[in-house]
Formats: sequence, structure tokens, C-alpha cells
Amino acid sequence: MPVTMVVDVGEAWTPPHTYALTGPKDWRPPLSRAIFHETVHYWQFVGHAHLIQLVAEDWARLKPFQATGQLLPQGPLRRAFTQPVESAGFSTQDLMEAHARFWDVQALGPPLLIELELEAPHRDVSPTLTRVQYERLMSDGKIWHHRDAQGQGVGYSSLSFDLAMRLAAGRYALPYLRLREQTNDLIAAALFPLCAHFALHSASPPTFYVALVERLVPQIDLPAGRPIEHAWRSLYMDVLREAQRLHIDRYGHEIQTGQATIHTSPLFHEHVGNTMAHTMLSLACDHLAAHRPLEFLVGPQAMPTGMRALWTMDFLLGCCGMAASRMPDLLAFLAPPVIRFSDGEPWTLGALFDAFPFASAAPSTAENPPPRAQVAQALLALDETWDDLQLKVLGA
Ligand SMILES: [Zn+2]
Repeated sequence: MPVTMVVDVGEAWTPPHTYALTGPKDWRPPLSRAIFHETVHYWQFVGHAHLIQLVAEDWARLKPFQATGQLLPQGPLRRAFTQPVESAGFSTQDLMEAHARFWDVQALGPPLLIELELEAPHRDVSPTLTRVQYERLMSDGKIWHHRDAQGQGVGYSSLSFDLAMRLAAGRYALPYLRLREQTNDLIAAALFPLCAHFALHSASPPTFYVALVERLVPQIDLPAGRPIEHAWRSLYMDVLREAQRLHIDRYGHEIQTGQATIHTSPLFHEHVGNTMAHTMLSLACDHLAAHRPLEFLVGPQAMPTGMRALWTMDFLLGCCGMAASRMPDLLAFLAPPVIRFSDGEPWTLGALFDAFPFASAAPSTAENPPPRAQVAQALLALDETWDDLQLKVLGA
């Protein structure tokens, strides 16, 4: 539920464990996978201008409802969110899910993700892939790049990556597949998260994404054999530059980062979770500028360090599933305030942060109470009001 920032996971509560977010493929993968996926959505909602504006619309309904019980209609971005845009063939929600899915595949690895999908009893993946087909691909050596002396798979194939993306339900795979039709697997993997990221800053993410991809594909050439993380980092400024041109062509002004969008929104002063997120984003930028090696920052050396730190934060949020984004920056500063399980029991900020080994990276520790101390409880209370609003909409 984005407006209340409560991250819901449809699994039973278990004692907090940071591996769910730091190394999801190594700790109870079915559970970690759910926590990780929903956390990526949280980062999307604090890091992307379009999604923040959508939350601001929901907040503009929740506030009067909370005060007087008044029920206002949904805002325009919220109404459009799930509607496929005809010229693109998918909706903003589809693009957001494809972006999250991309990071699921990157963080868990395609073979594990495919296994989990094939095993999930409530999922019907058979039209795309049956277990028999998968096992044939596996025995033909098409899932792993190669096997080591012990017979363990090493490095996954581009086929397995494509398959894992295709297994995403319905239209969720479309934005990625559209790019994949226009270019090879390497360039698609390099461009996809960045194009989806900048599109999610715009007023119409589906059409912005399609136009940005069309402009960029002919311009990009990547040497094979380098880690994909290098491609994301080295392409970030190029994609930003093209996205800025497109944004100015379409809307007459430059892209706003998530941080700037929260700052200029009523959420900044009125919504306890967004006040906290904005504070933490600012602290994270200060931390990046002061403590990260200069080569970690995106942007040219001539750009002021503070500005490079701002864009680096934007890069980390766009590539939020990348290991180097999560650890330590996003987790130390922007771990989700509340993760709630199917039985209603939550992991709260304190419990999560206490378990993180990043005290030196985080500005606030148990001894130095953070500005977010009461945030989790306040958000859970807000969430109950939002539930009441939804019930009233349904006429219950
Ligand atoms: Zn999702």
C-alpha cells in the first residue's frame, strides 16, 4: 500500500533477518523473494517522480477522510495507473512490475527464480514453460552458461534470463520484451532498468519508455564480457542526457528526481513516512559525497560533488536491486519502515536496522535515535484508515 508505505508480504511472520534483503538467494528463497520484491516496490515509490505524485494524489484523499470521513474520487494518475496505453500496449503498473521483476531476476538468478515459479502451486506458468521443457533446456546446457568441475552451474545464459522475464505474469513482461525485440540481450539488460527508471519519472511512463528506447537503441554499443553493473553505471549519464532531451521536448522542462519531487510535494510536510524518506535521502546524499570514492559517483569529474551525489542516489534508486545499491546505501538509509506479514505481524524499522551491520554507514543507530523512531507505528495506524477508506469505497 504505497500511500501508507506499509510493505505487505503474503507469507507468515518469521524473526527479522537481513539476508532477505542483502542476499535473498541465500536465505529461504521463497520467503526472501517475496520480501525482496515488495521492498523493490517501496524503493520505486520513494525514488520515482511519477509514483510519488501518484502517492500524493492518494494522500490528498486519505487526509480529508481521516479528518472528517469525506470520500473524494481517485486522482488522474491513480485512475490511469492500471490502464494500458494503447500505443505502448502496457500500463504504468506493468512497467513498474517489469522493473521490479528485472531486479528479482538479477538478485535471485534466473535458474532459481524459474524453479520457484515452477514449484509455486498457485502459479500457472505452463503456457510459457512446463517443467518438462525446462528440464530439457537444463540437460541441453541452455540454462547455465557452463558447469564447473563439480557440475555446478556457473553464470546463467541469456536464454534463461529471457525465460525468467517472460514468466512474469501477463503484460508485466511486455516492456522488456519490446526492448528485446529491438536489440541483443546484452544491450537490453543494460538499457532496460535505466529506461524504465527515467520513464517512471515522467508524466506518462509507458509512452516515455517507448520513445526513450527508440532513441537510445541505435546509439548504444557495448563491449561483451564486462560485468553488467559496469554497463549500468557507465550508461547512466548517457541515458539521463537523452531522457532530459526527451522530457524537455515533451513537457518543456527537465526531469525531477524522486528527492526533489518529495520536497516540492505536500507529502514532505504532511506525511510522516515521506518526511522521513526525504530526510534519509538527504543524509544518504551527504554520505555518498563525503565517504564514497569519487569513482563510485556518476557524472563527470567537473560536476560539483554534491550534484554527483544527487544523481548517484537517483542511479541507486533506479538500479535498486543491484547489490552495490542495496549494500549499504539503500538498506542503511532507506530500508522500508514496516514489512507486514500475512498474520499481521510486522518487521519494523528498529528491528531491521538493529540487525544491519552498517552502523558506521548509517547516520542513526540505537544510541543515536533516528528521526524515524515513531514512524513505523504511525504508518501502521495510517494503514488502518486507508483500509477503512477502501471499504467505504466498496460500500461496505
Ligand atoms: Zn510486484
